[in-house]
Amino acid sequence: MGRYLESSCKICRRNKEKLYLKGARCESAKCALEKRNFPPGPKTSMVKKMSEYGRRLREKQKLRFFYGVSELQMRNYFKKALAQKGVTGYNLLALFERRLDNVLFRTHLARSRKEARQLIRHRHFFVNGRLVDIPSFLLEEGDVVHFPPNASAQFTDRLKILKEKGLPTWLSYEEVDKKVRMIHLPKREEIGSPVQERLIVEFYSM
Ligand code: SF4
Repeated sequence: MGRYLESSCKICRRNKEKLYLKGARCESAKCALEKRNFPPGPKTSMVKKMSEYGRRLREKQKLRFFYGVSELQMRNYFKKALAQKGVTGYNLLALFERRLDNVLFRTHLARSRKEARQLIRHRHFFVNGRLVDIPSFLLEEGDVVHFPPNASAQFTDRLKILKEKGLPTWLSYEEVDKKVRMIHLPKREEIGSPVQERLIVEFYSM
């Protein structure tokens, strides 16, 4: 499947939920959902009831857009989650959370996952001392993410926000070395993902 070329805001409006796809704009009064809290497209007074298939499809799409992955990647993640021990829905979310682009977004070093992908491709980040330019790189427990010392000035503002807003409990920031560490794999209750993963598992099981 090709790339989604429509406005990201339409995805939020269609789901009637903020998915924070546009960085700083999402927290401002310019957010399209704040201004136009109704689905895009022609207005109609007829409200169509969504089918069970539709609900599951929408949930799957929501997760896909939330983490910014293609349909093919999404299928591969699902296969991987299915092959792991434990609850498939949780495994799926944990895989997405462990992506390097997501970790940069969660730690506020990037304003959005899209910006995180760009920074990674432009070779700004290291994992355990090795340069990583793959946004989908999966972090393991204990892994350390950092940027080169000469890039500190570039991230000064972001580090300020990181200290103000804090980090998810499964990540920590080491002030002296300016490094982010994955303390442990994210538990379900530590993952702030706006989806019902059960519906996604059902979608792929149909
Ligand atoms: Fe969604 Fe609002 Fe961000 Fe647009 S600005 S992507 S509607 S949260």
